[in-house]
Amino acid sequence: FSTIQGFREARFSAILKCGCLFVINVVLTEVTFLSIRSRFWTTEAMTGSPSMQRAFSVVGKDSFGNDYIENLKQNDISTEFTYQTQDAATGTASIIVNNEGQNIIIIVAGANLLLNTEDLREAAKAISRAKVMICQLEVTPETSLEALTMAHSNGVKTLFNPAPAIADLDPRFYALSDVFCCNETEAEILTGLTVSSPADAGKAARVLLERGCQVVIITLGAEGCVMLSQTEPVPKHIPTEKVKAVDTTGAGDSFVGALAFYLAYYPNLSLEEMLKRANFIAAVSVQAAGTQSSYPYKKDLPLDLF
Ligand code: ADP
Repeated sequence: FSTIQGFREARFSAILKCGCLFVINVVLTEVTFLSIRSRFWTTEAMTGSPSMQRAFSVVGKDSFGNDYIENLKQNDISTEFTYQTQDAATGTASIIVNNEGQNIIIIVAGANLLLNTEDLREAAKAISRAKVMICQLEVTPETSLEALTMAHSNGVKTLFNPAPAIADLDPRFYALSDVFCCNETEAEILTGLTVSSPADAGKAARVLLERGCQVVIITLGAEGCVMLSQTEPVPKHIPTEKVKAVDTTGAGDSFVGALAFYLAYYPNLSLEEMLKRANFIAAVSVQAAGTQSSYPYKKDLPLDLF
């Protein structure tokens, strides 16, 4: 699972390597995120409250799995829902970054694929208390669909990131997505359109919106993002900072994590304002090497973001 953290309270590299499906429940603030790797940290990190957090995932009984659990514990995250299995190795992501900071990621899902709908039901209470659930496609589509369904039926805001994208995505994913957020490549796979400019992204977003989502966001790397919603059905381009990218790996996850944070804690901000801030935070993340390690701490971000 790509990381969902926008900014960090601790290092996430072990989480990125292990890539497991999580439900993180911040009990006091009632925020739950579901995703692989770490899409939730952000929120907890931002609360500043003595919150109880839980990770929901399957890892292997191997060194990555052990490191992963250790990383959770070091970050005060309950591992009550973190299962270790003998039947598969911990999921891994091998990342290659070129001189322009662009990446190629090879994911071996491993134990992620063993997370099943029954596991989710064990976390039903935590899910029902959430404010936002983030879901991706690095566990099986059935598990992700069930997670979204459980969230949706409890009035939990759903933020779906169709990564890695599959061309024949089950149409229920669209209807279950309050916010559908993908990058250019994913938008191309899902729509069959070429997406290489804000104008292209606007067209692709319209196709996706018509499939039933409430809000579609397409991220465009250095170009920021484009948004389209049922209430504002004219595509809007939200440009971002011009920065020197060192390593863009995890930028999308930083963006999604930051967006989730704003949806959970600043729901009265306009969507455009949330996206400006998510752009800013993701732009910080591309200026340093690594994924988790490139996410800024809250204390290092400008106060006017909060
Ligand atoms: P992904 O990481 O999924 O490929 P993108 O490359 O679209 O996603 O990046 C996600 C977000 O990260 C962008 O919308 C933007 O806010 C930020 N971002 C990515 N690359 C850059 C960059 N070179 N300069 C500034 N911001 C960037």
